[in-house]
Amino acid sequence: MTLPLIFDIRHGSMDDGPGIRTTVFFKGCPLSCSWCHNPESQRMEAEIFWDAQSCVGCQACHAVCPGGASAVLPEVTLHREKCTACGACTEECPSNARSLIGKHYPVEELVRILLLDRGFYRATGGVTFSGGEPTLHVEYLSTVLQTLKKENISTALQTCGAFDLENFRRHLLPYLDLVYFDLKLCDTTSHLTYTGFGNELLLANFSALSREMGKRLVPRVPLVPGITATELNLTEIARLLRELGITTYQLLPFNPGGIEKRRLLGQPFSPEIPESFMDRDTERRLRELFRSTVR
Ligand code: SF4
Ligand code: SF4
Repeated sequence: MTLPLIFDIRHGSMDDGPGIRTTVFFKGCPLSCSWCHNPESQRMEAEIFWDAQSCVGCQACHAVCPGGASAVLPEVTLHREKCTACGACTEECPSNARSLIGKHYPVEELVRILLLDRGFYRATGGVTFSGGEPTLHVEYLSTVLQTLKKENISTALQTCGAFDLENFRRHLLPYLDLVYFDLKLCDTTSHLTYTGFGNELLLANFSALSREMGKRLVPRVPLVPGITATELNLTEIARLLRELGITTYQLLPFNPGGIEKRRLLGQPFSPEIPESFMDRDTERRLRELFRSTVR
């Protein structure tokens, strides 16, 4: 079995499903949403966060870097094109200016970590798998899910919906209590422009699952100012939910945290992405529009 890279295991989460949860974040996503607040999740490969502002200039990274990616002249620099993400510099850096994004966990190790938190899950909580796109790692995820179900742990998945439906039905769905399914943009061209991926497969999967999952399927719509959070787009998504008879959904407030993370990854960010949260009146108005259209 190929082990996926996991870039975070968040304990005690109150935002990733009912109750208190432990959330596992996988690396790798078929989409590349320009507003993504976890841009370190998008690539399958390990990466390095490099925060030049935290660097104290000790040059320890240079001393251990095998391929010359950590340079110190004329100033401490990370040459990403030479970096193999071996992680040696992150072990030595005294100021946490370098950190390694992505680690392999054998199934037994991940399950052991997740079961350590079972005292917090109680009746309503459990484990949520997020990313990135967890369904890219179907064999690994299915094995973990089956082990958790044997332990009577509640399970949830957050997905962009870009998966092979038959594989999903056969290997994942039987072991999932809840699926949070992202609906971003109804317009196909806009979806392709802002996420790098068309929405036909995603919408077909969503419609099919809505018929068989009932309230176990929860659509989530990110409210990105000027992109997904427009009256036109939200009205179209709300009408789709109404046609499918879906009344339970989540509208996710915009999180501009991805901008800082892109800086740490050395990636440009789209100037269209706002750097601040949406103003409350606009968000309230759009939420009401959505609610009244779904009804
Ligand atoms: S992760 Fe490895 S290759 Fe990359 S800069 Fe650090 S030591 Fe060099
Ligand atoms: S080890 Fe860390 S603090 Fe020292 S020079 Fe390298 S990045 Fe800067």
